[in-house]
Amino acid sequence: MSTYDYLVVGSGLFGAVFAHEAAKQGKKVKVIEKREHIAGNIYTKEVDGIQVHQYGAHIFHTSDKAIWDYINQFAEFNRYTNSPVANYKGEIYNLPFNMNTFNKLWGVVTPQEAQEKIEEQRAVLAGKTPENLEEQAISLVGTDIYEKLIKDYTMKQWGKECTELPAFIIRRLPVRFTYDNNYFNDTYQGIPIGGYTQIIEKMLAHDNIDVEVNVDFFADKEYYMSEFPKVVFTGMIDQFFNYELGELEYRSLRFETESLPVSNYQGNAVVNYTDAETPYTRIIEHKHFEFGQQDSTIITKEYSKTWTKGDEPYYPVNNDRNNKLYKAYKALAEQEEKVIFGGRLGHYRYYDMHQVIAAALQCVRNEVLD
Ligand code: FAD
Ligand code: UDP
Repeated sequence: MSTYDYLVVGSGLFGAVFAHEAAKQGKKVKVIEKREHIAGNIYTKEVDGIQVHQYGAHIFHTSDKAIWDYINQFAEFNRYTNSPVANYKGEIYNLPFNMNTFNKLWGVVTPQEAQEKIEEQRAVLAGKTPENLEEQAISLVGTDIYEKLIKDYTMKQWGKECTELPAFIIRRLPVRFTYDNNYFNDTYQGIPIGGYTQIIEKMLAHDNIDVEVNVDFFADKEYYMSEFPKVVFTGMIDQFFNYELGELEYRSLRFETESLPVSNYQGNAVVNYTDAETPYTRIIEHKHFEFGQQDSTIITKEYSKTWTKGDEPYYPVNNDRNNKLYKAYKALAEQEEKVIFGGRLGHYRYYDMHQVIAAALQCVRNEVLD
């Protein structure tokens, strides 16, 4: 048996918070990471003075003061407010859906006019309670916005028709009858000055923590399972069980990043392309997350694709079929006494960063402090 108390598989936010808090309680922790760097999907890398969000735009937001204070121990945050725009065949609309969107689309000026317009379009549902993403979207914002800003974007993002997807996905977005383009309703929001990677570096910089990158747990699962008294696993739960109950579905992404010799390419950090023809879902211009003034810029086109073995599993696909299968894996997980499953992949949940931190802190309370 090794002298470590815990093996943490994965150096993303969940693994790092767990390792940090356990180490503070005097536990010895080994972290293994299969990628060549730490930080999981929140990894950022400085290129030409610009923090590049290597795995997609990450904006921290929460209404939980304790979580905000927690993350602020590791970085100072700027005042960035996410206000993406949608480009539909060259027409620009503000997101999330708000009075600016309604005004541009319909010419309406008052909240009452906008509500009447949506009410009129919602009639196609004939009072039905929304059961899928399409019905939920139409019920929230009407058929015009659904057709121009939701239907094809969602199809590109998830590879499924809106009728086959759960309603909760679209409920992530606020709908507002004010002229407010802030994508989130949360009290606290920002981007860590100097990027996200430093946060994970600081969490893992403790005498009780050893980190090894380029190490895949599955290269020697038997060894790790016998050598460590407890394992915190933040990889794919179905892979842990060798897919014995079947494969869960994931969505993968492909990122195309380029440096351009212009100071301002698109005038905003995030532009969503909501038509069916544009093959990517969005373009990120990284410098705008930190109000960068450099002469050049770096942009990333994000393409969504079906996950197959070997791809990075960025998103769980939480429809009924997969949630049911996950439940069956969770039952198996509960019998694995020495393994704790956590994070977006271990819990198969569409977690944002603040939720991952909350879940990891809860896990530490259950495991280490009790
Ligand atoms: P991960 O970051 O995936 O970490 C898991 C780690 O485990 C990875 O580093 C992986 O390589 C490693 N690993 C897996 N299997 C093994 C193995 N077998 N052996 C060794 N290591 C292994 N959240 C927000 O709050 N705001 C946002 O704006 C936002 N935007 C996002 C945009 C995109 C495109 C994506 C994909 C996610 C976004 N999120 C956002 C969510 C955020 O990325 C997650 O909540 C968070 O990173 C999850 O942390 P985690 O530790 O659970 O997972
Ligand atoms: N969505 C959309 N059009 C947009 C932005 C979002 O239809 O311009 C829908 C889409 O289904 C997406 C969901 O809203 O999957 C959630 O959007 P969010 O921006 O939260 O997605 P994420 O950043 O997690 O990819």
